[in-house]
Amino acid sequence: MIEKRQFYINGAWVDPIEGRDHPVIDPSTEEPCAIISLGGKADTDAAVAAAKAAFPAWMNTPVEERIALVEKMLEIYKSRTEDLAQAMTMEMGAPIDMSRVSQVGAGTWHTTNFIKAAKNFKFIRPLGDHAPNDRIVYEPIGVCAMITPWNWPMNQVTLKVVAAAIAGCTMVLKPSEESPLNAIVFAEIMHEAGFPAGVFNLVNGDGVGVGSQLSSHPDVDMVSFTGSTRAGIAISKAAAETLKRVHLELGGKGANIIFADADDKAVKRGVLHMMNNSGQSCNAPSRMLVQKGVYEKAVETAAEVANSVTVGNAHEAGRHIGPVVNEAQFNKIQGLIQKGIDEGARLVAGGTGRPEGFNRGFFVKPTVFADVTNEMTIAREEIFGPVLAIIPFETEEEAIRIANDTVYGLTNYIQTQDGDKSNRIALQLRSGMVEINGQSRGAGAPFGGMKQSGNGREGGVWGIEDFLEVKSVAGWAAE
Ligand code: NAD
Repeated sequence: MIEKRQFYINGAWVDPIEGRDHPVIDPSTEEPCAIISLGGKADTDAAVAAAKAAFPAWMNTPVEERIALVEKMLEIYKSRTEDLAQAMTMEMGAPIDMSRVSQVGAGTWHTTNFIKAAKNFKFIRPLGDHAPNDRIVYEPIGVCAMITPWNWPMNQVTLKVVAAAIAGCTMVLKPSEESPLNAIVFAEIMHEAGFPAGVFNLVNGDGVGVGSQLSSHPDVDMVSFTGSTRAGIAISKAAAETLKRVHLELGGKGANIIFADADDKAVKRGVLHMMNNSGQSCNAPSRMLVQKGVYEKAVETAAEVANSVTVGNAHEAGRHIGPVVNEAQFNKIQGLIQKGIDEGARLVAGGTGRPEGFNRGFFVKPTVFADVTNEMTIAREEIFGPVLAIIPFETEEEAIRIANDTVYGLTNYIQTQDGDKSNRIALQLRSGMVEINGQSRGAGAPFGGMKQSGNGREGGVWGIEDFLEVKSVAGWAAE
């Protein structure tokens, strides 16, 4: 059994002051695979104090030096790929090949893009020719608390930690208690890279404990949170007393609008995208809107594709999908599949219960519902499992209306070979991101949502700006 009870505070691994043991469960086996410690207020306070003490020097460290440390961190990160991948596979159930390539690779990708953005970022810039003695200064916001989820752990950790470090902020990371082991490896990487003591700190804990202590802490200047809308609301309320900045990356219920003139692979692509990471992605295209005319064919194809998706133990190599993260999530998904049936959607693939051959592990059948209406629970709630809802539509206006009829606004998708139509619709969709015809967003593109999907933008130059204050200086002496 792995035992990782210590926290990383002020440049050293330290024993918890108020720790409680917490088992980490391997979702492929339902067996405990590690013991960590959930910290208490004294641990949170120690980490925040370390970050606060380190802030003045780090803020005044030349940005070139901060970038150089991030570059060193990236080299070490790549060399620890296997450790990171094994940790994620064990604790959150991403299949090992996917962990190595996509889960670890997401961190490499974001870090590389941040380094590029940082090298071109002007931290001091003129206001304009009309005001020659004005300067706009981008300055780090201060001590940042980072609260991250378990579904794309290294993706979310690097999006926050690297951007904040480049910006000149110091930080306390509280990873999800479901997936703490990869974050512990990440802390080792930060240590080896040689970041000054106190710049980066890690405390494990749960939401009601360390999570809410960080959110309400008077010495924390900003909370950057990725997770559920429920926790985002709790964090916003906890942060309100101290009026700290709150940056939220929350849930989604993306529409994937498939027009009759979509390319041949559109439906297959949409189903596989939905099933990736066992449906546990905030930007999953979970509502497939299909135009009448190609609707029945699309339903048939979607069922075939879902039936071809294999489910398996995360520790085994291959292109299968793994289990979902934990028992609570498994039960929630089972309940929502049953709700889909009860509310009259047509089940065309999958269903309740474990896939054939499994009597243990949080494995879910790749599931497709057809004839879903946008009022049904499975069209409204984020399921966070391999469950697709297919909704018919007739006109472009109707598709836009259905797509926007949700409290979420993270990512929407459009499939049509008519470029004028897709451009036109992209401007009407109320979401932070739109992806057309399977094209994924380019290097350094901002990631984030509208409405109840959040308010932050992570990645590239926008991700760095999220950790900066804008200062306006008049009377700047001519250089
Ligand atoms: P979660 O909200 O339960 O937990 C996320 C983190 O918040 C964990 O570290 C948890 O300990 C902490 N937390 C929980 N309650 C808290 C509270 N009251 N105060 C402070 N911290 C608290 O979410 P999850 O189940 O780990 O992750 C899945 C969710 O994350 C989904 O809703 C998904 O859509 C969302 N997500 C969003 C994005 C995005 O960028 N928009 C990316 C990935 C995941």
